[in-house]
Amino acid sequence: MTKLAQLLFVLLLTITAQSQTKKFKVVLDAGHGGKDYGATYHGNIEKKISLNTVLKVGEILSKESNIEVVYTRKTDVFVELNERANIANRSKGHLFVSMHCNANDNQAAAGNETYVMGVTRNAANLEVAKKENAVVTLESDYKIKYDGFDPKSPESVMGISIMQEENIQQSIDIAGKVQQAFTKFTTSKNRGVKQAGFLVLREIIMPRVLIEMGFVSNKNEGAFLNSSEGQNKLAEAISKAILGYRDDFFKLESGVTPKKDVVKKEEPKKTDVKPSTDNKTAVDGVTFKVQISASGKKLETLPKNFKGLKNISIEKENAIYKYFYGTTTSYAIAKQLLADANAKGYSSSFIVAIKNGKKIKLSEAIK
Ligand SMILES: [Zn+2]
Repeated sequence: MTKLAQLLFVLLLTITAQSQTKKFKVVLDAGHGGKDYGATYHGNIEKKISLNTVLKVGEILSKESNIEVVYTRKTDVFVELNERANIANRSKGHLFVSMHCNANDNQAAAGNETYVMGVTRNAANLEVAKKENAVVTLESDYKIKYDGFDPKSPESVMGISIMQEENIQQSIDIAGKVQQAFTKFTTSKNRGVKQAGFLVLREIIMPRVLIEMGFVSNKNEGAFLNSSEGQNKLAEAISKAILGYRDDFFKLESGVTPKKDVVKKEEPKKTDVKPSTDNKTAVDGVTFKVQISASGKKLETLPKNFKGLKNISIEKENAIYKYFYGTTTSYAIAKQLLADANAKGYSSSFIVAIKNGKKIKLSEAIK
């Protein structure tokens, strides 16, 4: 080969490698499976409906170029909740979509809803999370594996959600798109976007939602969910939402701009809270900030734009601007900052931990 041919060859390889890394990767999670049937009413079995619909969504998405579909299961097998998260995280997916069916003793209940991780005191939302989380009791040593988690206890369910949730804005976005698409493609009742603590979503480090596609306990809706016509409609709707999400977030992200650029690098400022004198809560090399909001709009970091909060910093990640309150090396102070933010009305704020310029899991940081 001539030098030029060699160069072109290398260039081609590079381009191929790059376009491969630019694939949008979606992880589809069919709830339940194997010995875990999920909710079963009137002969409508959740594990079958979720798998059939997931496979249909995968089929639609696979027709798109530059999309890779990862499945947590493609057959009728039992997959532990931890393993579902492992599959998603190992695949470095851009989006995790878990699909389920709802059930209620009140068999008149009907409609679809999409969940993002979050704290809820809403009894109905807690019930849904408790039902879905109960599958862990089919796993051996679940109390050890899931840090003493008790699926029957509301405290356990709420505890799941009080943790780092840096993808909340994107998760809410895809959840909204799913609900919109359901309204467009089905005649089912739209029950909206909700928050609750789902064990399957807990360890997943990408935007993530859990869809309750409808109630198997409702005779009519159960029949719809169980029919291939119904599953086609649901799959069409969910695919449409996923593609919309890809267009809004991923296409921008995979453009020429670097994946993460700090828009305005502020000097680390002292917060209003006095630094704690005891060092017990300081963690080596770790900085904590409180993310109070995220938006597609860029706001000046002035107190008047943030309900009077000072020391706001901003970071642009993917297509959205994330706003942080304060910065500290003490976890105790970070918790005070979080309480301040909550008191100002930023109720979905959460603490993020940064080590060597990279975000790390809060649980690791506190260790
Ligand atoms: Zn389920």
